[in-house]
Amino acid sequence: PSRADITYFGAGPAALPTDVLETAAQALLDYQGTGLGIAEHSHRSELAAKIINEAKADLAAYLDFSPEQYEVLFMQGGGTGEFAASMYNLVGAWVARQHAAVQKELGTDDEAQVLAALRERVENGLKVDYIVTGSWSLKAYQEAQRLLGPEYVNLVCDARTINDGKFGKIPDESTWKLSKDAAYVYFCDNETVDGVEFPSFPKVLEPKEDGTGPIVVADMSSNILSRRIPVNNYSLLFFGAQKNLGSTGIAVAVLKKTFLPPNLSQPSPALLRKLALPIPPIVLQYEIIAKNNSLYNTLSIFDVYIAGQVLKKLLATFPNGVDGQQAVAEKKAELIYAALEAHPEAYKIVPDKSARSKMNICFRVIKGGDVDVAEKAFLKESTALNLTGLKGHRSVGGIRASNYNSIPLEGAEKLAKFIDEFAKA
Ligand code: PLP
Repeated sequence: PSRADITYFGAGPAALPTDVLETAAQALLDYQGTGLGIAEHSHRSELAAKIINEAKADLAAYLDFSPEQYEVLFMQGGGTGEFAASMYNLVGAWVARQHAAVQKELGTDDEAQVLAALRERVENGLKVDYIVTGSWSLKAYQEAQRLLGPEYVNLVCDARTINDGKFGKIPDESTWKLSKDAAYVYFCDNETVDGVEFPSFPKVLEPKEDGTGPIVVADMSSNILSRRIPVNNYSLLFFGAQKNLGSTGIAVAVLKKTFLPPNLSQPSPALLRKLALPIPPIVLQYEIIAKNNSLYNTLSIFDVYIAGQVLKKLLATFPNGVDGQQAVAEKKAELIYAALEAHPEAYKIVPDKSARSKMNICFRVIKGGDVDVAEKAFLKESTALNLTGLKGHRSVGGIRASNYNSIPLEGAEKLAKFIDEFAKA
């Protein structure tokens, strides 16, 4: 089949808009008549800086946040790298704040005294909080345990405990065990594998009226750019590019500038060593990446270029930003869920209705009683109709339709029609 025939529902890397790829293919050969392709130009050239700066500004415009208040960082190491980066940087920020507080309280710079007080604070007070609602937040939680030490990592809730050992529901906020003054609270806004998405920003994590409140981190790898988010409620959000933003190879961190100099500087490696806390690799240090406008080391400008083109296309289609795309995403998800719900004898939607993802629609095919046989038939017949990439994640099986921004309304309509016809056949 040709590209135009296919609707690809893969979970990531995801399909990219054809016109973006056509422009990128040309840019790969010869960028703007320079005789050199975009992947060959220096990452330190003026044209690379322009691509980076435009992508940053367009992301802020589309998601409606202030570039004065938030820094956009292009990171390497994917979403998984950000599991580590978020921990290192926000634990570092916690240490820096405690360091300043201890110095002030003791009224001295005496190193031994300050260090003793700091050690005590680390031992008695350092906590990072994880809300585990699916496979990716579980991985982030485990990474924090591995790098920082399990004694510092608090499990706020594990969604499997309220759903027969499986992900699929979000535990009621009243049951969450949040630490007092955690270095941060982490959640994954959309669980790509399990099809679980937070319906809205958690109430208990909202900032208080005086502006104080928890330090919130979110992984938005698989639903960024698909819905309006209250960016001001977050200290950090991050996402791998390869679902709604662009190609594989970069991740983006959007960080509140209060976590960067001149407001706050990360503790020195020497201090961290004395506190027996981990020292971050330099490529994961936001402060370093920010200072260098994401060019501390060689960055794939080609990937930033693709992300930039996707953002330009989104802004041209939805000049008022993400709300327009959100309406489309909701409509597409509604079509697909409605087709599934119309045939309870043939399909079982995996997550609870209260937590259904609009981006990753996970279901089982139960028609005929033998799920394995039914799902194989479903995949074979859908593929024959050029509806591809529908196989669920290998860890959970089933069917997963990833409804990312590049899926057109007609693509969702085709899938809904197939879901209906397969059930009836
Ligand atoms: N977080 C979420 C929600 C994801 O869906 C993924 C990957 O699919 C990751 C993190 C990990 O991203 P990466 O493969 O870029 O490390």
